[in-house]
Amino acid sequence: MIFFVGAGSGAPDLITVRGQNLLKKADRIIYAGSLVNPQLLEVAKPGCVIQDSASMTLEQVVSSMLECEREGGLCVRLHTGDPSIYGAIREQMDCLEQAGVEYEIVPGVSSLCGAAAALRAEYTLPGVSQAVIISRMAGRTPVPQGQEVKNLAKHGATMVLFLSAGLLRQTQAELLEGGYAPDTPAAIVYKATWPDEQVFRCTVGTLAQTAEKNHISKTALITVGGFLGKSYERSKLYDPAFTTGYRKGTEI
Ligand code: SAH
Repeated sequence: MIFFVGAGSGAPDLITVRGQNLLKKADRIIYAGSLVNPQLLEVAKPGCVIQDSASMTLEQVVSSMLECEREGGLCVRLHTGDPSIYGAIREQMDCLEQAGVEYEIVPGVSSLCGAAAALRAEYTLPGVSQAVIISRMAGRTPVPQGQEVKNLAKHGATMVLFLSAGLLRQTQAELLEGGYAPDTPAAIVYKATWPDEQVFRCTVGTLAQTAEKNHISKTALITVGGFLGKSYERSKLYDPAFTTGYRKGTEI
């Protein structure tokens, strides 16, 4: 059995209980070394085979999983954050299906959530934004037509950009072109939930400059939108006058 496990965004105690139990039982752990905190591996049992996938191809990863399976072992494929976001797990799952091997996914705390916690922010503020756009700048991996940051920016929603910290001049230009005002609040969150986490609050107009000044070019999320500002509306859910299925409103 193969388990794709979300490692969480950095802090080793942010993995789920289920994920950690699997790490304890694993006969083989293949982890994404570029971003997974190696402290997570400390719970591995003696004799567990531990491999860093940073230097491996898809074929090598899959053949390692299949080898563990043939030996009757439990294999954990440990991905940073949550595996469903830029995790490249689909191609691995398809290979396993072709080989007739069972697998399961254990979710994790994405850096999307880690960054919000670092910012002490809520992405979905009433009256400000009720949508979160998760995307990236086109880099060596292109984005499909119509999904360019400049197009997504037109919504004015909360935007969280992965894999783009090294491309901030272009990112800033596309965000402005798409219609965010230069003074729209923005923030760069570097290594959310790691001990060396850093938060840089700025505006869309100063994103590139802020990253350059602080030497940030990777392992960071770019967050943009009014959710980082001061104004918002109170929620209906906790409004005394609002009746819900669980609570009767006090005013008529
Ligand atoms: N599956 C992961 C994302 C993998 S893509 C998740 O759910 O978080 C790798 C990108 O994620 C990095 O380039 C960076 O943009 C972002 N990232 C991953 N961990 C991060 C962290 N702790 N803080 C800020 N950004 C992070």
